[in-house]
Amino acid sequence: MRVAILALQGAFLEHEEMLQRLGVDFFEIRKLSDWQQSKDALIIPGGESTTIGKLLVDLGLQTPIRKSIEEGLPVFGTCAGLILLAKNVEGDSENTHTQSQLAVMDITAMRNAYGRQLGSFYTIAPFEGIDKDVPMTFIRAPFIKKVGSKVKVLSVVNGNVVAARERNMLVTSFHPELNSDTRIHQYFLDMI
Ligand code: GLN
Repeated sequence: MRVAILALQGAFLEHEEMLQRLGVDFFEIRKLSDWQQSKDALIIPGGESTTIGKLLVDLGLQTPIRKSIEEGLPVFGTCAGLILLAKNVEGDSENTHTQSQLAVMDITAMRNAYGRQLGSFYTIAPFEGIDKDVPMTFIRAPFIKKVGSKVKVLSVVNGNVVAARERNMLVTSFHPELNSDTRIHQYFLDMI
């Protein structure tokens, strides 16, 4: 199994460390030619969704990545990655976009949903399909305001949806790669 990790900006190294610990092969996507390599899945890290989104367009990666996801490539988006995968994005006054660059998952993401300061916190909470509560680190996090009928909600924190799955797509509004607990990455690997 070989996992592609989008490495344009943000917390991609931490995902690489997770996969290393799980003994899974990976490679970085920094330009279009990287994307041509064969892969079994894709991880889109947290960071700044506007920056990553702009780079996706500038580097010509937007269309091929979207097509592969639509054709069934398993994808895991954390935080900014969730925003990039969401069909609808709300809650950002600096950005009038209502569609993200990939826009493949039937969810509405609320950007910076907790306010800039309150968006960073740590908790442990249940996650559907995983036995015991998992650690969750939120950093200027979005949450999921609305889900489509085919989307399965996996975790709710303080009444807000923070993890969901639709077919081949998994998203979390927190950063599982920032804790030592590998179970959410393992959950994703089990989807492949
Ligand atoms: N607030 C960031 C955004 O809107 C996401 C933060 C993160 O990925 N930790 O893109």
